[in-house]
Amino acid sequence: MRFSRGFFPTLKEAPAEAEVVSHKLMVRSGMIRRLAAGVYTLLPLGLRVQRKVEQILREELNRSGAQEVFLPTLNPAELWRKTGRWEIYGKELIRLKDRHEREFCLGPTHEEVITDLVAREVRSYRDLPLNLYQIQTKFRDEIRPRFGVMRGREFTMKDGYSFDRDETGAEQSYEEMVQAYTRIFRRCGLKFSAVEADSGAIGGSFSHEFMVMADTGEEAITVCNSCGYAANVEKSPVSLKLPENEGGELEKVHTPGAHSIEEVSEFFSLPPYRMVKTLLYIADGEPVAAMIPGHRELNETKLKNTLDAVDIELADAETVEQLTNSEVGFAGPVGLLGVQIVADTSIENCGGLVVGANQTDYHYTGAREGCDFTVSKFADLTVAQEGDACPGCEAGLSIKRGIEVGHVFKLGCKYSESLDATYQDESGETHTIVMGCYGIGVGRTVAAAIEQNHDEDGIIWPTPIAPYHVDIIPVRVDDETMEICDGLYNSLESAGLDVALDDRDERPGVKFKDADLIGFPYKAVVGPRGLKEGKIELKSRKTGETLLVAINEAASFLNNLVTEEMESIG
Ligand code: ATP
Ligand code: MG
Repeated sequence: MRFSRGFFPTLKEAPAEAEVVSHKLMVRSGMIRRLAAGVYTLLPLGLRVQRKVEQILREELNRSGAQEVFLPTLNPAELWRKTGRWEIYGKELIRLKDRHEREFCLGPTHEEVITDLVAREVRSYRDLPLNLYQIQTKFRDEIRPRFGVMRGREFTMKDGYSFDRDETGAEQSYEEMVQAYTRIFRRCGLKFSAVEADSGAIGGSFSHEFMVMADTGEEAITVCNSCGYAANVEKSPVSLKLPENEGGELEKVHTPGAHSIEEVSEFFSLPPYRMVKTLLYIADGEPVAAMIPGHRELNETKLKNTLDAVDIELADAETVEQLTNSEVGFAGPVGLLGVQIVADTSIENCGGLVVGANQTDYHYTGAREGCDFTVSKFADLTVAQEGDACPGCEAGLSIKRGIEVGHVFKLGCKYSESLDATYQDESGETHTIVMGCYGIGVGRTVAAAIEQNHDEDGIIWPTPIAPYHVDIIPVRVDDETMEICDGLYNSLESAGLDVALDDRDERPGVKFKDADLIGFPYKAVVGPRGLKEGKIELKSRKTGETLLVAINEAASFLNNLVTEEMESIG
C-alpha cells in the first residue's frame, strides 16, 4: 500500500463527541467516520484491522469444528412472535414493513433464524452436534450509542450457535467455545478475563463474559486476588449480615427536612444500615417494592431475576405519589397496599428498622420484618462492593472495570422448544435439541485493543491485528531513495509482510507523526545517513528501540521479528 494512492485521512483533533481514547484514535487515524449516531463507515485502515480480527475468529472457530453460514438481516416478524421476542425485545429492535405491510425487523441477534433453520433441516441424532456461526452486521437501536464502534446501532458481530442432543453435549460445546474464545482473544494480543455473567431467568453459572480490562470499560467486575474468582457485578453474589438489632417499638416520627439516607440516619443517630431503602418499581406492569439496607445499592439485574420479570423500571414520580399517598422519598413497607414487597435477605426477621411512613416528612422507627410488614420474597438484591467477601474463598473482593467483548451462554431449550427444533434418537424417540449461543463484537474488540494499547502519540497495534506490519518512510522523496524504497517494499511483501510505503512528498516529521498515530508496529526509515552504509533504520513502535539493518537483510530480519511476535502472542 502506497500512501500516495491511499485513503488515510488522519486528523489532528478528535471530534467533540468522542469520550474514550479508542474512539478518538479511530477517528484521528482515519479508521472510521461517523454517518449518524452509532452508525460508522469503516475506511480502508479500519476495515483491514477488522478483517484481521475476523480471520483469527474464522481460524479458531473452524479449528473447533464450527462452520460458517450467513443468515439474512431481514427477519420476518412471525418468527420473532413465535419465541415471544417480537413483544419483549422492545425499542432496541428496529422494525419495518415491506410494500405489502408485512412486518420485519433487522436482526439484532439470530437465535430465531438459526433455530428455525435447524428445526427444518435436522432430523436425527446423527446430525448432531452442530455448531454454526456467522460474521454479520447487527442492528440494535441502543438507547445510548456511544464510544464509536464500541456501542453502535449498526455493528459487526460474530454470532455462533451450538446444537446438542443433551445437557452433557451442550456443556461440552460450551467448554469448546470458551477454549476457542480464549485462543481468539489471546491471538488478538488482548489482556482479558472470562467472568461469570448473569444468565437471566435461566439461572446457573452458564454464562461467561470475556472482558478486556480497561479503566474506561462500561462493566464493573468483582475480582478475587486470592482464588481467582471473577464475575460481572450484576451477577456477583452478596451475603450481607446486619448486626443484631436493638429492637424497639414501631413509632411514627415527624422528620422534617430529612430525605436522604444520610439525613435520616443523622436525624435518628442510627447507622445507615438501619435505614431501609424502599424502592418502587414497575415489573411487567405491576408495582413492586424492593427493600435493601440503606448503606447499599440495589442490583436491578438481581431484582429482575428474583421477580422472574421480563422488564423492570423504576416507578416515575407520579406513580410513587399515587402508591404512597406522599411525596417521593417516603415510601415504606408498613401499610403499603396493593404492592408486592421483596427484600434483601439481610432484612429477614430484622427489627429496629427505620422505614418511610408513606406520608410526607414522616418515618417509622422500630419497624420489624414479619411483624410490622410482610415480605413476599427474600433474595440477594444488592450490588457487590469493594471488600465484600468472595463467594469462593471469603477473601475481600476488588472491583475492576472491563469492556465486554464476548459472551458465551448456555441457552438450554428456550428457543428449540418454541421453534420446535427436535431430533429422533436411536430408538426413534423425539427429543428437543439443547442449544448454546456465543457472541463476539468484532468492532468492539478492535476498539478494546486500542484502549489497552496506545500512548499520547497514537495507537500501538498488537502485531497480529496491525493494519500493516511496517511503514517504509523515505526521508527524502528523490529518485535514488525511492528506488531503494520500492526494492525494499517488494522484498518485504514477498516475505509475506503487510507493508505500507509513505511515498508522499511531505516532511519526514509529518510521516513519523502519522505512522505513530496509525500505530504500525515498525517503521523502516530510509535516509541518507543509513544509506551511506547500505542500511535502513528499523524502529519499534512499542519499545521505541532503533536498529540499523542492512537493506538486503531487512526482509528476513523483519519477517523473523513479526513471526516471533505473532507466535509469542498466539
Ligand atoms: P451489552 O451489555 O454491552 O449491551 P449485550 O449483552 O447486549 O452487550 P450480546 O447480546 O451478548 O451483548 O452480544 C454479543 C457481543 O456483541 C457483546 O459481547 C459485544 O461484544 C457485542 N455488542 C453488543 N452490543 C453491541 C453494540 N451496540 N455495539 C457493538 N458491539 C456490541
Ligand atoms: Mg446490549
